[in-house]
Amino acid sequence: MYLKSIRMHGFKSFADKIEVDLDKKVTGIVGPNGSGKSNIVDAIRWVLGEQSIKSLRGDDSMTDVIFSGSASRNASGVASVTLTFDNSDNYLPLSFNEVSIKRRVYKDGTNEYYLNNEKCRLKDITDLLIDSGMAKESLNIISQGQVDSIVMSKPIERRTMLEEAAGVLKYKKRKEEALRKLDRTHANMARVNDVINELETQLEPLKEQKEKLEVYEKIKEELEELEVSLITSDITNINFKYNDMKKSLETINAELLDIMTNSTTNSAKIEEFKVKINKLDIELTNKQKELLDITALAEKTNSQKNIILERQKYNASDPKLHDNLVLLNEKKLKIENEIASIKLDLVSLSKDLEEINKEYSNIS
Ligand code: ATP
Repeated sequence: MYLKSIRMHGFKSFADKIEVDLDKKVTGIVGPNGSGKSNIVDAIRWVLGEQSIKSLRGDDSMTDVIFSGSASRNASGVASVTLTFDNSDNYLPLSFNEVSIKRRVYKDGTNEYYLNNEKCRLKDITDLLIDSGMAKESLNIISQGQVDSIVMSKPIERRTMLEEAAGVLKYKKRKEEALRKLDRTHANMARVNDVINELETQLEPLKEQKEKLEVYEKIKEELEELEVSLITSDITNINFKYNDMKKSLETINAELLDIMTNSTTNSAKIEEFKVKINKLDIELTNKQKELLDITALAEKTNSQKNIILERQKYNASDPKLHDNLVLLNEKKLKIENEIASIKLDLVSLSKDLEEINKEYSNIS
């Protein structure tokens, strides 16, 4: 694996897009003071995840790495650097022959990282590089003045540098991470133990509650069973009552049908009686008229008879007149008998009618 090329755009003094191809062996970059040689090294350090602007020779914030403009051109809005590694030997644990790492920073301070043009986190890049010896802490990059600081550094700092150079750093880092995890695990275990202790104190009351709950569940089950059997018995009783009532209803319906049939028959009978009574009324009126006529005739005959009787006192009796009188009297008697019979019929019919009317009003 080796660094194949550095592409920069808007980074420090490199306002334009620029690509520096590096040789597989050794590449030297020469140029006058202030031409930007160290800026190239800063670019590499920056892409590898440098977070200290001081290490990059900036002032305040990471946006200081963005081209700040010159007399002839405006400042850039974004700085971008891409490192391309030849990974044909699969030194980096990725199954690509070429691995590119890109970092971008915008004027508003937003940082973006890309691995083979896929957006990723800074951690993804540091994780990828930690085993490669290219981590920003490693001594692959020794910038201007750093030699002095190595010589002048305290033993403990020097030890760190030597460890980095010897490749111990990654193991130290892993150890630190493992220890941090171990601490976290211990803390978690302590919390779990606390929880267990707390739960143990609740165990006895919970046991009692559980027993009560079991008793409750049992009673509830029994109650439900009883309710079900009660409802079943209620349903059976209701069914019996329903059948009884159904039978009663059928009987009442039959009776009602009977009554309605009788009512129709009675109505017909009433009508028949009314016709008969009307007939008898007319007959009675005729007979009474006839009786009146006969009575008038009888009275007339009687007065004639009286006259004749008066005359008889002086003359012999008139047999013809006598016969007439007898005949008339017989006729009168017959008519009186007929009227009496009609009256009787009338009384009997009126009684019948009264009875039927009573029955009729009871029904309706
Ligand atoms: P020396 O040989 O003296 O070390 P050098 O070639 O390493 O010099 P650098 O230090 O890389 O030069 O470049 C410094 C130049 O970069 C300066 O001219 C400085 O103005 C310019 N520079 C640094 N940061 C920016 C920036 N953000 N915008 C524009 N120019 C910048």
